[in-house]
Amino acid sequence: MPAPSATDTNDTIAAISTPPGEGGVGIVRISGPLALTIAARIFRSSHGRDIAATPRRVFHGHVVDGNGRPLDEVLLHLMRAPHSYTCEDVAEINGHGGAGPLNAILEETLRHGARLAGPGEFTQRAFLNGRIDLVQAEAVIDQIRARTRAGLQAANAAAGGVLSKAIHAMRERLMAALARVEAAVDFPEDDLPELIDTELLDGLRATHREMLELLDTCEAGRLYREGVAVAIAGRPNVGKSSLFNALLRDARAIVTAQAGTTRDRLEEYITIAGVPVKLIDTAGLRETADEVERIGVERAREALLGANLALVVLDTTAGATAEDLALAAELSAHELPVVVVWNKADLQPPPEEVALPDIHGSVVVSATAGTGLDALERCIGDLLLGGLQASAGQVMLTRLHQKESLRRAADSVARLLDNAGLSPEFLAADLQEALHALGEITGETTPDDILEMVFSSFCIGK
Ligand code: GDP
Repeated sequence: MPAPSATDTNDTIAAISTPPGEGGVGIVRISGPLALTIAARIFRSSHGRDIAATPRRVFHGHVVDGNGRPLDEVLLHLMRAPHSYTCEDVAEINGHGGAGPLNAILEETLRHGARLAGPGEFTQRAFLNGRIDLVQAEAVIDQIRARTRAGLQAANAAAGGVLSKAIHAMRERLMAALARVEAAVDFPEDDLPELIDTELLDGLRATHREMLELLDTCEAGRLYREGVAVAIAGRPNVGKSSLFNALLRDARAIVTAQAGTTRDRLEEYITIAGVPVKLIDTAGLRETADEVERIGVERAREALLGANLALVVLDTTAGATAEDLALAAELSAHELPVVVVWNKADLQPPPEEVALPDIHGSVVVSATAGTGLDALERCIGDLLLGGLQASAGQVMLTRLHQKESLRRAADSVARLLDNAGLSPEFLAADLQEALHALGEITGETTPDDILEMVFSSFCIGK
């Protein structure tokens, strides 16, 4: 028997959908034509219900092994096609959240005919079965990975179809134009002007403008999705950790960072102007590595140089020392945008005349008194978003492959507009190219390697 391919939706797939480790509950998900049959075979209802014969959707009971011995106490959810995540019959078994019970349940599903799902295969089925398009499938990853409210909102909008609708609207207009241009191909020369008229060309011009506007949103879209890293640097005792904590307290939307970083508070995510910002306290990096100070310093330097923006903290009571100036110069030399933060303004204003190297802004704050933080956030926000189109709520491209495809679509329409006097065959070819390129964004004409790349970046079980 040939090995089932990931795009084969005739078989039934199963996977543990919750992350490894211990948790209150864990979920094994089964999707496909055998999902309900497999569930019925491995599940014993506490109330003796026949799950196939009951219109109920949630059942309490046990998953049992081949000898009828209980393996785990579970809640079973049944979702019948097409009303499920994948559009197929789906059974979700909520067991105890641990490797033992979940693996035992998964093994029983495999024993009864399910196949282990590949990464993102449930979402891939939702895509192949036409419930969502590629833009929405990609947005599912963004929902899972969103670190801030703004990032989540942007992902929710894309998953809800905001970008898909915009692309579909463009495709529809191009298709209507193509229908007229193709009709013109069949007409004698004299009748051409009536089909390819100014109205048609004006419409295409408007669509081209929309394409350019949407292209302009990509940088902002990627920023909202991927976020940026802002590192806090400076000499010891200038107040880096105090500033880090002040910015966290001030932030209205802190999303707890990964385990391990909250404990020592080296990194936290905050939102500045809607952009997820990973704030890195390089003082913290130094402190946690006290046994191996050198490694700590190196890590601080790496974090700094890997950041998108550096806040160089200076102490107003000490002025700008040679060490401060050397640090700011080094960062600028690495083309890292630098904002100088004069801290401890509650004790003393910053010195008036300081020749700082090439910096992108300077703000006066008191980390302990909490003054100047709004201005600092504004300064960071302006630097991040300065000149970029689009805000978190609107339609945005978020990925480079989307941008490349839209760029090709726009180029084809531009070529058509430049050559409007040419024969309709040429115009039809340009329109077809543009349609093909737009279809790559929504998934209709996406090359297999891009599809593979998208779904393989998912976790197993999603
Ligand atoms: P770091 O080594 O750069 O992380 O500096 P810390 O944040 O640990 O601060 C060093 C000392 O400066 C601490 O005693 C802080 O309380 C104090 N400090 C930090 N910011 C301010 C400020 O804005 N005003 C005043 N008066 N003291 C501050």
